[in-house]
Amino acid sequence: MSAGVDRGPEKTVFEKGSPGRCGLDLPEPGPLPLDAKLLRADLEGFPEMSEPEVLRHYLRLSQLNYSAAADFYPLGSCTMKYNPVVNDKVAGLEGFVASHPYAPIELVQGNLRLLRELEEWLVEISGLASVSLQPAAGAQGELAGIKIMRAWHEDQGKPRSKVLIPASAHGTNPASAALCGYDCVVVPVGDDGLVSADAVREFLDDEVAGLMITNPNTLGLFEPAMGEITAAVHEVGGLVYMDGANMNALMGVARPGDMGADILHVNLHKTFSTPHGGGGPGAGPLAVTEQLEKYLPSPRMVEKDGKLDWEYDRPDSIGPVRSFYGNFGILVRAWAYMKACGGDGLTEVTRMAVLAANYLRVRLEQDYDLPCDGPCMHEVVFTDKKLEGGVKTLDLAKRLLDYGFHAPTIYFPLVVQGAIMIEPTESEPLETLDEFADAMIAIAREAREDPGKVKSAPLNTPVARLDETRAARHPRLVWKAEESA
Ligand SMILES: *Cc1c(COP(=O)(O)O)cnc(C)c1O
Repeated sequence: MSAGVDRGPEKTVFEKGSPGRCGLDLPEPGPLPLDAKLLRADLEGFPEMSEPEVLRHYLRLSQLNYSAAADFYPLGSCTMKYNPVVNDKVAGLEGFVASHPYAPIELVQGNLRLLRELEEWLVEISGLASVSLQPAAGAQGELAGIKIMRAWHEDQGKPRSKVLIPASAHGTNPASAALCGYDCVVVPVGDDGLVSADAVREFLDDEVAGLMITNPNTLGLFEPAMGEITAAVHEVGGLVYMDGANMNALMGVARPGDMGADILHVNLHKTFSTPHGGGGPGAGPLAVTEQLEKYLPSPRMVEKDGKLDWEYDRPDSIGPVRSFYGNFGILVRAWAYMKACGGDGLTEVTRMAVLAANYLRVRLEQDYDLPCDGPCMHEVVFTDKKLEGGVKTLDLAKRLLDYGFHAPTIYFPLVVQGAIMIEPTESEPLETLDEFADAMIAIAREAREDPGKVKSAPLNTPVARLDETRAARHPRLVWKAEESA
């Protein structure tokens, strides 16, 4: 927002303007072909503003929002990277937008070919045999994946009762396993933040349906024992689910299938640069080994004589998990992104994401405590241990807003006390990484010299520090005249 006059918080339209002002002059309408009793003479309290006032009001409101398009957004595990605008342009092409999911199959061969190619590329990246594009989110991919795990065990004779989940797994993992009726058994992680094969073996028996492992784990570390772990799980007849939401740490460099994963989801709305939305658009395609292909959600795409079609009659399938074939518009965006990057480009994405996180790790390790030493993958986790003056992770997060940065993920992963989880992504220039590091270092200095300031942050944002609980439980989402008076 422009510097200079301090207008205070932007008022609502009901508090602005003046009677008689009008945004748009239209010619007086002639007699309307409506019954007079259907017409409203006046609208009480209707805001009356001039056109520039309206334009400026909404432009200012739009800028109160924090977005990856406007600023650096280092929210760990969420991969808030820049989504190239050309992807939206491609998804908006008439042939995509105007085609209907019930259109005759002959008329949408191009759309299906795009989905087929996307499946093939994800097969290549995952090192697994088959992909379903249907799940609409990472968590839904997990749910579908664990349902497949269960279906497979049922076919072996019994569903088994337990799923092993390392303490450093993403929170959605135990939720997905529990939803499928499994008891979740937490495998402790070592002081180095890693899962050891011995720790997994402790819990292995013939009641273990499988292991759900996030790799890189939520500490941003690659699990070096992955091969040994997957072999041990397979030995007792279990399956390995790998959470691949953060494939921008691996893609083009290492393949989950080669590490022994049987089931994997990837998040298109992270690695493959499509929009995230509060439970909204997104896609969490699911990849599986050959033996599990028949359980994938229906319908599945099949190709006969060069023609693509949907196969609905799949007796072993876990059934559909979403309407039609998934979030088509999002799948188009991911396709466009992958097409633009090319195979070498996607490998470069991984290298740059890992480099950026390690750059911040090295720039900040003097001022911020690193719970786990050594190189990280696409994200780096610090704690508030070194911050002085009683300044905590939450205070740091709030103070960063004053410096113009979105806060990192905080207090997650749970295995680290006071965690500050930073994911810079590959799409930021060096200058931005430096500005962010400078701000973090400046806040560490403020904590030493003027901790009260950090603890009362944010000081420059449209609203001051909120009562987090009340803001979440009793949000005020509607403006009411009597409350603002
Ligand atoms: C984001 C994320 C998920 C969940 O994905 P959603 O699309 O938000 O459901 C699962 N696991 C990991 C590691 C993630 O980062």
